[in-house]
Amino acid sequence: MPKTPLKNMDVCIIGAGAAGLMCAIEAAKRGRSTLLLDKANKAGRKILISGGGRCNFTNLYIEADAYLSNNQHFCKSALARYTQWDFIQLLEKHGITWQEKTLGQLFCDQKAKAVVDVLLAECDQHQLSIQLETTIDRIEKENDSFILHASHVSNTEISEEIRCNSLVIATGGPSIPRMGSTDFGLQVAKQFGLKNIPFTAALVPFVFSAEELSGFFKDLSGVSLPVDVSCNNKSFKESMLFTHKGLTGPAILQISSYWKKGDEIIVNLLPDIDANNWLVQQIQNHPDAELKTKLATVLPKRLAHRLCETHFNNKPLKQYNETELQDIAHQLHHFIFKPSSTEGMRTAEVALGGVDTHELSSKTFQANKAKGLYFIGETIDVTGHLGGFNFQWAWASGWCAGQYV
Ligand SMILES: Cc1cc2nc3c(=O)[nH]c(=O)nc-3n(C[C@H](O)[C@H](O)[C@H](O)COP(=O)(O)OP(=O)(O)OC[C@H]3O[C@@H](n4cnc5c(N)ncnc54)[C@H](O)[C@@H]3O)c2cc1C
Repeated sequence: MPKTPLKNMDVCIIGAGAAGLMCAIEAAKRGRSTLLLDKANKAGRKILISGGGRCNFTNLYIEADAYLSNNQHFCKSALARYTQWDFIQLLEKHGITWQEKTLGQLFCDQKAKAVVDVLLAECDQHQLSIQLETTIDRIEKENDSFILHASHVSNTEISEEIRCNSLVIATGGPSIPRMGSTDFGLQVAKQFGLKNIPFTAALVPFVFSAEELSGFFKDLSGVSLPVDVSCNNKSFKESMLFTHKGLTGPAILQISSYWKKGDEIIVNLLPDIDANNWLVQQIQNHPDAELKTKLATVLPKRLAHRLCETHFNNKPLKQYNETELQDIAHQLHHFIFKPSSTEGMRTAEVALGGVDTHELSSKTFQANKAKGLYFIGETIDVTGHLGGFNFQWAWASGWCAGQYV
């Protein structure tokens, strides 16, 4: 089948996710002829499934400390130029209402689709083209332009060549591969000689060994409690949930981004109570009560009982000596878990790693070594904490690049 004639565009953006949509809107506003390409059959698929269907679209407390990167300063400029307030204003302009759930996390009152609809309405208004179900087979550089060899995802005979002056890679990271996520961004970076940091799963549940699951973890699945969890000098105070494979919940997802294979995590099971004082009080007031009975008043019962069976040698409180009590208090505040792995990309909310930020301008997002080539969003080595930080990075990096492409 013959190819369609060469299409000429000012800007091509590969990836119609959060970052790509934002970049395309800004480029089109500047009068640049803009084509947004995606291999999926819908734009913004990760937005649609985000935040349990309500999209945690940003956070009130955006700051560089909430992002992991080999280059901690890289994200600052973009986050300062396009802030959470700018995105809130965009949503409000389209009648979207929102609420803060916890820790500054902002969710839509409407479904997540409303956020995608806002972005698509902006795309329509600025007359940019979106071409879905399109895969990019090859990218060539020809003088100052790029030639994209594209084809239809399910019919490679339908193919075309697109020439553009600015090429933006906004293909995200490889988490949740069943959604078609790939490491396409890293492949393009390699093609153009840019360094990258391999992607690894982040914001992801922990898995424990079969021995642990049939031992300490047995029948704890579904137990949830507020904790303060630490690893590698970072800690998060949120909730933790036991699962049939190990641990999850916001505190665990957050710390997973800082965990490396072989590391232990330290969990403060009573973050709001001084366990030493509490134990002394219990002995004074209930000397004949068993530890497991009293512990079940401050911890979920199943967990309290398991701790007493496996670690605290359950007995009436008055029978514990001072050293034993100190050890119990210490363990309640520093309980050690050693995950064997994470659930990996299959369930990770994001990926750490990506195109090395030293290769990019933090102002324009253009590659220093490849004029006209830009990388934005999750494809770059900038990964946010849980709570709307990743979308804010996508909006901010997309908006900034959109001013220069
Ligand atoms: C289940 C889940 C829930 C989440 N919830 C939240 C949340 O509530 N708040 C938050 O801040 N973050 C959340 N995230 C993270 C957030 O979705 C990502 O950080 C964000 O989508 C990254 O935006 P992006 O534009 O860089 O990439 P993406 O949104 O992943 O977009 C990349 C696009 O590129 C396309 N693409 C990929 N490869 C190719 C290719 N080879 N050719 C053409 N197109 C391609 C994809 O189809 C996709 O449309 C969640 C993630 C998941 C998986």
